[in-house]
Amino acid sequence: MDFCPQCQSDEIVKSGIVNDRQRYKCKSCNYFFTVNKLGKKIDQYYVTKALQLYLEGLTYREIERILGISHVSVMNWVKKYNIQKVQNLDFHPTYKILSQSELGNYFSLPENTKGSGVIVTELGDKFMIIKWERFKE
Ligand SMILES: [Zn+2]
Repeated sequence: MDFCPQCQSDEIVKSGIVNDRQRYKCKSCNYFFTVNKLGKKIDQYYVTKALQLYLEGLTYREIERILGISHVSVMNWVKKYNIQKVQNLDFHPTYKILSQSELGNYFSLPENTKGSGVIVTELGDKFMIIKWERFKE
């Protein structure tokens, strides 16, 4: 199975020959590329993780920075899986990336969970905590 190098979609079609090489077009993001640039599929783990972070209220750019995955890819997955984010104007997420031992220290301090709690998700060999806080006026 071949994938678009830009957005990892498999909806690619042949689109002429350029310099003796087969050219393809991605139907998801309209990117043109030749067979030499065929992309490697991103692990489904990161697709799930990206969509999870999207639902938690992180922006495409934040997800790009944290996971190292192009915001174009994330936008395409949101479209592909028809993910609808709940609009929430009263809260916004803040996040930290911690190691296992930092995570232990974090939870040992009551003020870190009081009032809003946190969500913990695995991120490679670290953990990400997402905390919701009311906008302060
Ligand atoms: Zn594409």
